[in-house]
Amino acid sequence: MKRYVIIGNGVAAAGCIEGVRSLDPRGEITVISGEAHPVYSRPLISYLIEGKTDVGRMKYRPDGFYEKNNCRVLYGRLAVSVDAAAHTVTTDDNAVIEYDRLCVAAGSRPFVPPFEGLDTVKNKYTFMTLDDALELDAALTENSRVLIVGAGLIGLKCAEGVKKRVKSVTVCDLADRVLSSILDADCAAVQKHLEENGLNFLLSDSAVGFDGNKAFMKSGKTVDFDILVLAVGVRANVGLVKNAGGEVNRGIIVGNGMAATLDGVYAAGDCAEGYDASVGSKRVIAILPNAYMQGYTAGINMAGGHASFDNAVPMNSIGFFGLHIMTAGAYDGEMLDEGADGVIRRFFVKDGLLKGFILVGGTERAGIYTSLIRERTPLDTIDFDLTKKAASNLIFSQDIRRKKFGGVV
Ligand SMILES: Cc1cc2nc3c(=O)[nH]c(=O)nc-3n(C[C@H](O)[C@H](O)[C@H](O)COP(=O)(O)OP(=O)(O)OC[C@H]3O[C@@H](n4cnc5c(N)ncnc54)[C@H](O)[C@@H]3O)c2cc1C
Repeated sequence: MKRYVIIGNGVAAAGCIEGVRSLDPRGEITVISGEAHPVYSRPLISYLIEGKTDVGRMKYRPDGFYEKNNCRVLYGRLAVSVDAAAHTVTTDDNAVIEYDRLCVAAGSRPFVPPFEGLDTVKNKYTFMTLDDALELDAALTENSRVLIVGAGLIGLKCAEGVKKRVKSVTVCDLADRVLSSILDADCAAVQKHLEENGLNFLLSDSAVGFDGNKAFMKSGKTVDFDILVLAVGVRANVGLVKNAGGEVNRGIIVGNGMAATLDGVYAAGDCAEGYDASVGSKRVIAILPNAYMQGYTAGINMAGGHASFDNAVPMNSIGFFGLHIMTAGAYDGEMLDEGADGVIRRFFVKDGLLKGFILVGGTERAGIYTSLIRERTPLDTIDFDLTKKAASNLIFSQDIRRKKFGGVV
């Protein structure tokens, strides 16, 4: 009987379990779960703070998932080392677990810069896990002045989550705009929308030090706060594979079958650096659907099957106070602007292929654009002029529609 070990218990791990079980109903699966919770949907932690969901409804798989899949889960345990030659993982309670196939699905961790005086701040939080959210939730009061360092996706989702429950929310960032990694300079309308919903911004400026409940900004300003949230960025958890001699860059380097460069070892999800079809090279794509697909692919191959995942593209589909934003791919090539009346529709085309897009408002059926990037559809085979204005399945020939959508359209 094959012995499978999975490090991490997030969405990539769930995909891996399902991938393994699709081919091997009997092998032994051990999941080493740093968090003390069954797999949950991480993007929902801001909705939990906002009161729009609860812990029960955040579950990514129903109760009984691990029992049904016959998995042994070591909750609250960390893998501390991998011995790639001996095929063993050692945990923080000194247990040595043998594997035939290992999947590292350890995600990422918040990056906290060494701010001067950070140790003097009593109420400081990061915003990655369910436990982070529960701790922050318990600290919020209607008089709280919240300072969030980082105007990226995580910082802004946190800001939206806490807004109605506190006195004020200020978000600062060294970048000159919000969501700087996915929006371009012309998307100032997004910041305006967030400000209209009560968020305050300090951009092109950021905290450089703290003294108790006071932040010192790069510009020389000071900001008084009661609660500090650090959402500067994340780092992929590559250490276990790196220390075992595997190849890592920003993430653990994997091939299209999710095999890492160590015998019997695979990696999936936010810790892995796999093929990005929009740029044609390897990148960490830290989004939930990618984590699941990489985990599932790894699982199939760990169980002896043959699966490949070579059409991943970075994409974000997010909403802030009712404004929907969807972005995908790389902002590379000629930019075609189709926006009007406050709606942003921006497409990037290179070598006759759609490489990326930014949609703010008007995101209906945007999955069609993502599929054009993913499948590298030559734009001269569809009516792209029509498609830029409104996505429709009718841009594909009847034959292709039948293949894509099973003859439903
Ligand atoms: C606030 C927020 C909002 C988000 N919103 C979106 C969104 O709208 N859309 C989207 O697609 N994505 C979103 N994401 C990203 C998405 O949640 C992640 O891409 C996805 O959860 C990654 O899954 P994973 O399984 O790779 O990693 P994780 O979910 O991070 O799971 C990894 C697990 O491994 C554990 N671990 C780490 N090291 C060890 C070790 N040594 N031993 C044992 N266990 C270990 C960790 O504790 C963790 O539980 C959001 C993320 C956050 C934080």
